[in-house]
Amino acid sequence: MEYHPSLTHPADGPSLDPRHWSDMRSLAHRMVDEMMDYLEDVGERPAWTPPTDQAIQAVEHMPLPMGPSSPEHVYELFSQHVLPFTKGNISPRFFSWVEGNGTALGMMADMLAAGMNANVTIGNHMAMRVDRQVVDWCRQLMGMPSTASGMLVSGGSLANITALTVARNHVAAGVRRQGLKGLDAQLVVYCSKETHNCMVKAVEVLGIGSEYLRLIPVLNDYTIDVDMLKSQIKADRNQGLRPFCLVGNAGTVNTGAIDPLDDLLAVAQAEGMWFHVDGAFGAVAKITDEFAPKLAAIAQADSMAFDLHKWLYVNYEVGCVLIRDRDIHRNAFQMAANYLTHHERGLASGPETLSNYGLELSRGFKALKVWMSFLEHGMDRYKSVVTRNIAQARYLADQVEGQPGFELAAPVSLNIVCFRRRFVGKDAEAENALNRELLMRLHESGVATPSYTVLGGAYCIRVNITNHRTQKADLDLMLAKVVEIGDALEVEEA
Ligand SMILES: *Cc1c(COP(=O)(O)O)cnc(C)c1O
Repeated sequence: MEYHPSLTHPADGPSLDPRHWSDMRSLAHRMVDEMMDYLEDVGERPAWTPPTDQAIQAVEHMPLPMGPSSPEHVYELFSQHVLPFTKGNISPRFFSWVEGNGTALGMMADMLAAGMNANVTIGNHMAMRVDRQVVDWCRQLMGMPSTASGMLVSGGSLANITALTVARNHVAAGVRRQGLKGLDAQLVVYCSKETHNCMVKAVEVLGIGSEYLRLIPVLNDYTIDVDMLKSQIKADRNQGLRPFCLVGNAGTVNTGAIDPLDDLLAVAQAEGMWFHVDGAFGAVAKITDEFAPKLAAIAQADSMAFDLHKWLYVNYEVGCVLIRDRDIHRNAFQMAANYLTHHERGLASGPETLSNYGLELSRGFKALKVWMSFLEHGMDRYKSVVTRNIAQARYLADQVEGQPGFELAAPVSLNIVCFRRRFVGKDAEAENALNRELLMRLHESGVATPSYTVLGGAYCIRVNITNHRTQKADLDLMLAKVVEIGDALEVEEA
């Protein structure tokens, strides 16, 4: 093979590579060392440290840099102003929203992927193969047939939007060319009121319109009311609308409720509708013995979405969409382009271009961190950590119930505990404000960072446990602080 060795003194001017590789190498080693220390000591630091005015000032009012800085100086800025004031979702006492924690090897995988800087969309190279293997592992995890296909995307939102696009383009043949105005009837999508708002975004960007996303009421356990669903579908048909897609939740964002997926599957089949499951975090519970039967219907769904960066603890960002029928998936996005033609040999050979399966063209090598993480831990270990998170939620719920003045705001169905403190003699509005104050003080204490939601008008503290670092002691520590702040507020308000 002929090649040209790189020139030490490039005649046309320098590239963006380091001037001194040995300096860059030393800096890189320092970065790895410091970041490993940072991960190792994560439990010793506050769960959250608010950004200082000085850091905000330093970062937000920087002029667009016109000249160079040394890499050491740039790293110094990061170390001083960015890293100390991070969100903290790697902390063992981070319980906000639904967020994952990442791992050390996941971090290094991102570095390796960035070093390769492969654009994983087309071509005969191994990143494409790793990507395809990871999607197939995801398919196996969810129990979908070998004829299913899928894509790694930035997260659950994009995975859900991609799935609904496939559903729409399949059900409304011709929509790709003629748009929605070619349809003889308005499309309607169904899901429970507790569904994540990315579904609203999906129907909006797809031109279906949020008015035609039917938010079906829920039962006391926050699962969809199937009878109400059926009567709504009937009413819509009578009005000449076209019910085309039913979305089931495998773990709602507020309370972790799992819709009766078997019932929903049956409704969708009876009505000839596309059945999609949003399992952003909850679908992962399929790997546990307890939840596998409850989530079995995912294997029968037409499509499903879930995140690897939530309950599989992979470093941000990566989610996955799976489509039961590869042809339907491809038909939704496939296009011919002169610059994407498959060749018999050379770099332009290899697997089919991935742009035929989604909205994105350029894509990073996010598959690598999934591939390396799955290999490092194996499913058995994920199973035990996920099982532990579920047990921890039940433990916390028991502790809350045994705590005078506190109450659970919703049944604990999976890994989310919503609770609040009652304040004697206060009306609903005042109690909401006091619980909100309690949460803010808890965050400021640095002890733990749960989030919040409003259930039936009541503001509550919401503890989500998708955290491989959490131990029971972390939950005890949090609850003790919550009780302490609650008592202090009671006294202040008396
Ligand atoms: C987090 C979440 C989403 C959105 O996923 P992202 O990865 O944040 O885009 C959708 N649905 C549910 C139930 C979620 O918890």
